[in-house]
Amino acid sequence: MMLLTILSLVFMTNDTINHNQNNQNNNNMKFELIKLPYATDALAPVISQKTIEFHYGKHLQTYVNNLNNLIQGTQFENAALETIVTESEGGLFNNAGQVLNHNLYFTQFSPNGGGQPTGKLATAINEVFGSFDNFQKEFETAGVGLFGSGWVWLAADHAGKLSIVKEPNAGNPVTKGLTPLLGFDVWEHSYYLDYQNRRADHLKELWKIVDWNVVGGRLK
Ligand code: MN
Repeated sequence: MMLLTILSLVFMTNDTINHNQNNQNNNNMKFELIKLPYATDALAPVISQKTIEFHYGKHLQTYVNNLNNLIQGTQFENAALETIVTESEGGLFNNAGQVLNHNLYFTQFSPNGGGQPTGKLATAINEVFGSFDNFQKEFETAGVGLFGSGWVWLAADHAGKLSIVKEPNAGNPVTKGLTPLLGFDVWEHSYYLDYQNRRADHLKELWKIVDWNVVGGRLK
């Protein structure tokens, strides 16, 4: 009986602690750093462990922290990430956009990636770009030609028609009513430790780790 009482006390205490932590998470930590679907050294040498540690561990974490701070007390406090990106502006848009962008970016790679898309995505790419090779060329050209910091996206409209979209800074095609499928980050923080000024070389290497199953799965 004594033991039961002690056990219930222990469980009650745990419940109380968990409950408080959950409340705290809901209030102060709405958005969390995504989990990487691979080890931090798994994408090397295309993306080094050091770059992942800074890009994911520092840059993305900062965007997440800023976003959580900036939504407090605003109409976006309980909004979905895509809603915030679509409807906000200024610093809130920049940080929300970068969280969405990097969530898509880091989950589209795999150490077993590369090759070519199949199925519906392959058909859609051929329809617009003629061939996968030509799509890659146009995508790289768009990324290299983007002045300053930003993103190059493969996006789909409501009918599933694809296009390459260049976005400055934190931009994402959702603000144009499009669905982002694949995004290459051309901010210098994404490649400078490994490639220094050679953005074109970096973009060319990225094809080796693209997980086309993930990218194709984003095409509804
Ligand atoms: Mn980045």
